[in-house]
Amino acid sequence: MQAQKPRGTADIFSPEVERWQHVEGVARNLCREYNYGEIRIPEFEHTELFLRIGEVTDIVQKEMYTFLDRGGRSLTLRPEGTVGVARSFIENKLYGGVLPVKFYYLGPMFRYERPQAGRGRQFHQFGVEVFGASGPWADAETILLAVDLFKRLGLTDLAVLLNSLGCPDCRPAYRQQVLAYYQDYRHQLCRACRERMDRNPLRLLDCKEETCRSLLADAPRATEALCPECDSHFETVQAFLAGAGANSRVEPRLVRGLDYYTRTVYEVVSKDLGAQNTVCGGGRYDGLVEALGGPPTPAVGFALGLERLLSILKTQGRTATAGRPLDVFVVATGESSRKQAPRLAQRLRHAGYATDVDFLDRSVKAQMKHAGRVGARTVLMLGDAELATGQVLVRHMASGRQDVLELGDLEPGVAAVLGRKDG
Ligand code: ATP
Ligand code: MG
Repeated sequence: MQAQKPRGTADIFSPEVERWQHVEGVARNLCREYNYGEIRIPEFEHTELFLRIGEVTDIVQKEMYTFLDRGGRSLTLRPEGTVGVARSFIENKLYGGVLPVKFYYLGPMFRYERPQAGRGRQFHQFGVEVFGASGPWADAETILLAVDLFKRLGLTDLAVLLNSLGCPDCRPAYRQQVLAYYQDYRHQLCRACRERMDRNPLRLLDCKEETCRSLLADAPRATEALCPECDSHFETVQAFLAGAGANSRVEPRLVRGLDYYTRTVYEVVSKDLGAQNTVCGGGRYDGLVEALGGPPTPAVGFALGLERLLSILKTQGRTATAGRPLDVFVVATGESSRKQAPRLAQRLRHAGYATDVDFLDRSVKAQMKHAGRVGARTVLMLGDAELATGQVLVRHMASGRQDVLELGDLEPGVAAVLGRKDG
């Protein structure tokens, strides 16, 4: 048995995990401010559910982790969050309650992809979904929430790309235009795109192959094919964004990988990500809830890749977090102080201080060395003689200054030393 994780997965631990916690904390806090409640859904669902994403998408065709359980049911590890959240919205009859419903989620997703930078087989997404709001403010709000997350993390150089794919009234005509355009170049297209022509021509616009991409510049623009209602919805989304001071750019050939989108689609891209430069993708999916068996319910949301977000943060030098600060390390120097040390540590923990203590019976020198290694801000030194007179010594590590504290006043004494400026 080899101690080796499967390809495309990662172990995340300190100090890296503190960077994750920081980003997750900022996201959760933002969701509280925007009044999005958390939803936690299963990490696997019935395979059929995901087949509704659209049979011709990469996810369904080649990326799903699907397996039979012991009861012979086909289950799939969730490749994305929206479909599961929509399933939950229907199953729990949330459409019958107070609308709109605003949710956010944070957690792992699973796709069988070729692992490379920015592309894992288990990765993590932060996403939001709004159900029961058809107006353009809902679209804009989700975009503003994403933009605020980047801002709050101190990120720059991100662009919001926007498009509208129309509705069941106007999209068929656009689809026809795209099909007609590519018909002339059929022989130049990659194999996957030739297949897309027959089943889902809009996905031609999303192909990453060089030759297919070169045809993109002259392809028909979705924004020119919108019906008046879709056109006005799209104009209003843009006006809201501009009014809120968010920079966005219309990209009239932007389509998203999933089939369920209607009207607004958007991406947030960074030039610091290389080939996998999309960090966040979202849009409106007014047809999804009904397609899954619920009542017609307009909806909009996004999903944001946390690995890619953390990677941009690193590139832009925004890696600073508080880390895992240790306030006190308790060092025992004698027989009876060894017995006291764990008790004092508990006392300080209960007073709110991050405290650690030796339990390997190490020498004083080794304990001091350990305290330095784990970055303790102060060291409490317990000696048998001092303890007998009700005193302990506290050392402020950054300055090297030492003070005597009365055991009775331990907590305020530690507070005073910790409050001192380092250096
Ligand atoms: P891509 O074009 O990069 O494959 P996608 O269209 O498949 O992206 P979505 O399904 O929209 O991506 O997922 C939203 C976000 O989740 C992406 O923008 C990206 O940040 C992240 N993401 C998607 N797939 C992966 C993966 N395999 N590994 C890491 N992050 C991913
Ligand atoms: Mg993908």
